[in-house]
Amino acid sequence: MPASPSRLFAQITTAEPPGDTTVVMRRAVVLGGSIAGLMAARVLSDHADEVLIVERDPSDVDGGPRPGVPQGSQVHALLPAGQVQLERWFPGIAEEAFALGAPLPPSDEVAARIFINGVEGLPPKPGSSGPGLITTRPFLEALVRRRTLAIDNIRMVYGRAEGIDFAPSRVSRVRYVPEGGGEPVAVGADFVVDAMGRSSRLGDWLDENGWPKPPMRRMPIKLNYATALYRRDEKISDTWVVVYHTMAGPGRTARIGGINSVEDDRWIMLVAGYDTDRPSRDVADFTKRCREQYPEMFGAIAEYGEMLSDVITYHQADSRRREFHQLDRLPAGLVAAGDAVASFNPVYGQGMTSAMLHASCLSAYLRSNPSSVRDQPAHAYFDLVRVVVDAAWQVSTSADIELPHVNGPYPRGYKITKWFGDLVFRASQTDPVLSKRLNRVTTMLDHPSALSRPSVLLRALRVGLSTRPRAAVATGGASNGHGAARS
Ligand SMILES: Cc1cc2nc3c(=O)[nH]c(=O)nc-3n(C[C@H](O)[C@H](O)[C@H](O)COP(=O)(O)OP(=O)(O)OC[C@H]3O[C@@H](n4cnc5c(N)ncnc54)[C@H](O)[C@@H]3O)c2cc1C
Repeated sequence: MPASPSRLFAQITTAEPPGDTTVVMRRAVVLGGSIAGLMAARVLSDHADEVLIVERDPSDVDGGPRPGVPQGSQVHALLPAGQVQLERWFPGIAEEAFALGAPLPPSDEVAARIFINGVEGLPPKPGSSGPGLITTRPFLEALVRRRTLAIDNIRMVYGRAEGIDFAPSRVSRVRYVPEGGGEPVAVGADFVVDAMGRSSRLGDWLDENGWPKPPMRRMPIKLNYATALYRRDEKISDTWVVVYHTMAGPGRTARIGGINSVEDDRWIMLVAGYDTDRPSRDVADFTKRCREQYPEMFGAIAEYGEMLSDVITYHQADSRRREFHQLDRLPAGLVAAGDAVASFNPVYGQGMTSAMLHASCLSAYLRSNPSSVRDQPAHAYFDLVRVVVDAAWQVSTSADIELPHVNGPYPRGYKITKWFGDLVFRASQTDPVLSKRLNRVTTMLDHPSALSRPSVLLRALRVGLSTRPRAAVATGGASNGHGAARS
């Protein structure tokens, strides 16, 4: 009997160190050297004589944002399941990050505050993965890059990947134009990973070579982000981490906000809306939004904090997934990972963690099929990846489908799932047991099916009957007793 998605998910999210390594190929080529590509390269280094990463963005990488990852200036949270994988593949990396300036939480009781629909919820309990790693995206990526490129058999070249050659039923070569232009270079490859992000052209390359393209599923979210950095200052606010999320509803506009304490004694602060609710790059607009639409610490930081960057905006039109698992024909030796497979509404912070879990899928695939990875299509890999994508997609789209400008696609059994989801969600705002359960699912430590057990339903019903709804916190600068705005 095939293993259930929840069982597979538990295997994929394991913290177990990788087992014995068997080299099954000469050269693996990874296209794209961001989070997904670096993690895939780390896994492949156990199974290939040589791993070559082809990355088109030659920016001098010093821990700052780079053009190849335009979303890199925005708030990026690494979910606990991602931190587990990071530590699994790069032991000691969190300690290294703290030594390099990633801020350590002020106490074991992590000082995260969560506001959902204007109501302050129970703070998440610290996970088993150690203190939460909270950094900017470029800091994290630079750390992972350093650790990856320190591995003897991994090498990175700068150039724009232009295509893959097939011979005839498997990958044979990768072609790229080296940095600075010139003649395309062709390198032989036993195995190729597409980690070129959400705009990957792999589908077109397959199509041009007579292979089917993976069908694409989209949900049009029309998300608008704006982010700025501030000097962290206890006199202005004792804020460590704040998550603010309001779903659309009677008298409510869907809105997201966040504050993270990050390296170099800074706060990174986000405000975001949907559709026509679009923050601009204008500092006055950013400050006004912080002051009028969010809990008081947003306004205090925006108004009194020292701003260290411009306001940087980002628009994401849709969540999208490429359904590689549906393909009945696929060249041998070819896989995809990270956003090249699925890219979600970023407010749920699933992207980097998903990329890390895809690396775990790759490891499981390479270890369980050592004799066939070069000659057989990687359907088994994509079946594993589907488990991760389905889990993340279910969590993110079940809330996004409620947005007024989103008209589906509605999943089967939508009404009952929504009723049940709302019930558990409301109860989790006051009940620590349900709060923890829900938190483990939204942070990708547990599969969503952990919430559909009868015991969860009964508990949610009991909690729902015994508690009255809680009052919303004030927005618009009114103090709620946390932090001290300087006058
Ligand atoms: C506004 C915003 C906020 C986000 N916040 C979070 C968050 O809080 N937490 C989280 O986990 N995720 C977040 N994400 C998602 C996260 O950024 C992505 O999921 C993650 O970067 C995916 O990594 P990747 O390696 O698959 O792709 P990318 O990071 O997009 O990297 C793709 C790489 O491929 C390279 N490349 C592209 N084409 C070629 C080519 N032809 N040849 C060679 N190289 C090529 C690019 O230069 C780049 O380095 C957010 C995304 C957005 C848009």
